Amino acid sequence: MALERLKSFLQNLYLGKHKGQELDDETQQTAVLTGHLVLVTLFVCVFYTFLEINIGDLFYLPFYAMIILFSIGALLLLRLQRYTLAKSVFLFPVITIVALFTSIEKHETGLYLYFIAGCLCAFTLFGYAQRGYAIFTVLYILLLFSLSYLLDHQLFEPVNVSEEYVRSSFIFNFLISTLASVAMLYYLMHVNVRSKRHLQATADELKESRNRFELAILGSSGGIWDWNAKTQELFLSPRIASMLGYKKNELRLVESDWILKAIHPDDFDRFEKTFEGHVKKKKPFEIECRFRTKSGEYLWMYDTGHAEWDSNGKVLRMVGTVVDITKRKKAEHALKEQKEMLEKTNNELDRFVYSTSHDLRAPLSSILGLINIAQVSCDPAELRSLLDMMKGRVDALNTFIDEIIDYSRNSRTGIDKTTVSLFELVGEVIESLQYYENYQKLVFHNNVPKNLTLCTDRGRLKIILNNIFVNAIKYHDPHQEEAFVSLDAEMHKHWVMIRVEDNGIGIDEDIQSQIFDMFFRASEQSVGSGLGLYITKEMTEKLGGQISVTSRKGHGSTFIVKIPVGNSRTP
Ligand code: ADP
Repeated sequence: MALERLKSFLQNLYLGKHKGQELDDETQQTAVLTGHLVLVTLFVCVFYTFLEINIGDLFYLPFYAMIILFSIGALLLLRLQRYTLAKSVFLFPVITIVALFTSIEKHETGLYLYFIAGCLCAFTLFGYAQRGYAIFTVLYILLLFSLSYLLDHQLFEPVNVSEEYVRSSFIFNFLISTLASVAMLYYLMHVNVRSKRHLQATADELKESRNRFELAILGSSGGIWDWNAKTQELFLSPRIASMLGYKKNELRLVESDWILKAIHPDDFDRFEKTFEGHVKKKKPFEIECRFRTKSGEYLWMYDTGHAEWDSNGKVLRMVGTVVDITKRKKAEHALKEQKEMLEKTNNELDRFVYSTSHDLRAPLSSILGLINIAQVSCDPAELRSLLDMMKGRVDALNTFIDEIIDYSRNSRTGIDKTTVSLFELVGEVIESLQYYENYQKLVFHNNVPKNLTLCTDRGRLKIILNNIFVNAIKYHDPHQEEAFVSLDAEMHKHWVMIRVEDNGIGIDEDIQSQIFDMFFRASEQSVGSGLGLYITKEMTEKLGGQISVTSRKGHGSTFIVKIPVGNSRTP
């Protein structure tokens, strides 16, 4: 505890407020070591200064004073973070003064041994990173040694000391220099072992994190991608490959433009925008888009990622994950369809309730009115005409109820397919209409090939044809010399095209698109409920077909019904 506190105190003393601040481990360690050495040197010099003063020999005092001064300077430089200068300011003067001592003292005192410690000290303090400084220091030490040895006391007169002094000095110098050298070596070994342990710990940590990462990839339902902006290569994890129907390593490393082919063309612009937004403006990269599988189908994927930028804001790489969300998307789509259908049904129901109550009440009110008149009338001719009118109202009511039943049946019952001869069916419908009002005023042309058959719901097709014919009768042009309804049918590869043409009053171009709507009546001449064509369209669609109209006001109308052929067809 006390040792820890001393260590921390000394570190504070050498490094000051810079302790632990953006310095790598080696720089800090050698700075602390320099501080320790400077402090020990200071302590030794102060000790000797007092000793010399005590024995009254002041010859070495200026040297000690110089070492003390340089040591204090080195400590200050350490605190100022000028580490290299601090080491030089400490090492060079001390070595130089030791060299001076060697030329003053007899060789036998063993002062030369400090040169060895000095060389080791240079390498320890400057470290491998500053080995140039260390080599220079060693060369300087060798030069000083050579000079002091070659000059051999020519600079200073050797001090006359007793044999006893020489012997004890040698022992002292040997011990100190050896201890110093051992301390340096021990320090270097310690650093080495610590670095190795640190390296091992880092490697273990890396291995652990890699294992964790691999397990996470395996466990996750998503795949990983990694894009290298420099090489423009895109790494795709085996999970992505298998999601898209490829073999595990088939897509491992692909070119960036693989994305161009993989993403659904409709999603590409959105993808590019999100990507650019992230790379250039650092907006989150998160998108749902379709990716092409090997077999050509598309899967919905949830794609997220994050880029790495350099100091200039240039993107270096981007890593992300993709998760298959096709099931969720399909469910969402089905839900949307159901919602739309529900809205449509609700709207229709609203209009249905409103129009039905009106259309049911109107003929009833009219009949009541006619009954009132009949009750007070005694004229048989008038009574007959009133009865005719009542019949007309009852017929209208009957038709309306029939239409509602048709509508209800269409939405509730399934399709019952049989092989149908279109020629016969058309004949049947025309025959059933012969008692319809104004039927006699029109000529029917059944041009359907007699051998044309299709596999469909006979009942529904009959109602479709019936409704179109009824309209042709209802909206015939009384001014036409010969009002007609002409029916043709053509067999195509997958469907039969039925064409019903009349030369009736025709329909205004701007309302043609609305005539298939529920309760839509095109004009005042309209005599029905406005349900006929709506039911016709619903039924055609139920059979998998389509209905359309082309018409010119005053010239006539042509209805085209396309019905799928089904399994059975005749050329
Ligand atoms: P409605 O019961 O009023 O006849 P429909 O749904 O059958 O209702 O037709 C909608 C409207 O389309 C009619 O009101 C009519 O104005 C117009 N229409 C339908 N068929 C013809 C046709 N063959 N010629 C002219 N107008 C037509």
